[in-house]
Amino acid sequence: MTLLTDRFSRTHRSLRISIVDKCDLRCAYCMPEEQQFLRNEALMTREEIRTLATLFVERYGITKVRLTGGEPLMRRDVAEIVGDLAKLPVKLGLSTNAMRLHLFLDRLVAAGLKSVNISLDTFDAERFRQIARREGFDQVWANIQAAVDSGLRVKLNTVVMRGVNEDELLRFVELTRDRNVHVRFIEFMPFAGNHWGRDKVYTYAEMLGRIGSAFPIEKLDDEPNSTAKAWRVKGWPGTFAVISTVTEPFCGSCDRLRLTAEGKMRNCLFAREETDLLTPLRKGEDLDALIRANVLAKHEMLGGLPRFQPDKQDEVLHDLSTRPMVSIGG
Ligand code: SAM
Ligand code: SF4
Repeated sequence: MTLLTDRFSRTHRSLRISIVDKCDLRCAYCMPEEQQFLRNEALMTREEIRTLATLFVERYGITKVRLTGGEPLMRRDVAEIVGDLAKLPVKLGLSTNAMRLHLFLDRLVAAGLKSVNISLDTFDAERFRQIARREGFDQVWANIQAAVDSGLRVKLNTVVMRGVNEDELLRFVELTRDRNVHVRFIEFMPFAGNHWGRDKVYTYAEMLGRIGSAFPIEKLDDEPNSTAKAWRVKGWPGTFAVISTVTEPFCGSCDRLRLTAEGKMRNCLFAREETDLLTPLRKGEDLDALIRANVLAKHEMLGGLPRFQPDKQDEVLHDLSTRPMVSIGG
């Protein structure tokens, strides 16, 4: 086995695999209104996903795999894919908007899924419709409860945007009062077509200020290579964390690689170059040189984008992002 170590001595242990680029929601921060989707033939098949995941685990020492999208539950064979990957010696997770979770929950659990990250940005059904550009709050909320009841470890992911949902921050934290629930607040990040502006970023510092003025909070130890900074309200069983990609990037300890739904390898969420692995795989070629070159090309920070500076008005970050989040796989 050879580990995938980059020029900055970071060893990559975690792989996110987007299994489909389509989605049944259209969150404005993630998917442009006129998004074009891939044809089914362009997507990695179940077998190709299994082959690539196995290669990354057995040959390169990947120990964490997360299935994502688009919306992974848009694929009818998602439970079979989970079953394949659950056989590998990895920590396996799935990110979902939970709209269709009731259709798959039993099969996913039976296939060996242990943990799920569910997106929820609001408790208000009308606001949900505005953010996601689709109805769905009641279904999602019911499915979150069902996921918790099924014994899955559930983390909620909430993108916090100024003027959109920052007023619900404390309500999300309240979820951790009586339950062992984990809420992760994500700073709004710039991607193609999502109308990002630095004024819309509700920052890590602002979140902590707001939560800390309402409740006594304490910092928790972060897992090594964690992208989230973990906290809790003293004495409460649940926890909250902040993914501060914009104001306090964690690139120094980032150990993630990504595969898009059409089998392109990306060494960073903000990468501007990607490496096609699916075409050579379909031709039966060896992928080693391609994978190594991709990892070695990884930039020190933010895919080579300039760091966010609150006092500057440039929109460089936004201009340089190449794909919308929905087609990268968050
Ligand atoms: N459909 C699934 C879901 O919604 O969880 C998985 C894919 S989604 C792209 C993965 C995560 O990316 C979600 O938690 C979503 O909130 C987050 N995300 C999407 N666009 C984002 C943005 N512009 N800034 C911050 N997080 C974003
Ligand atoms: Fe779909 Fe998830 Fe993107 Fe929303 S965040 S549009 S649910 S992929």
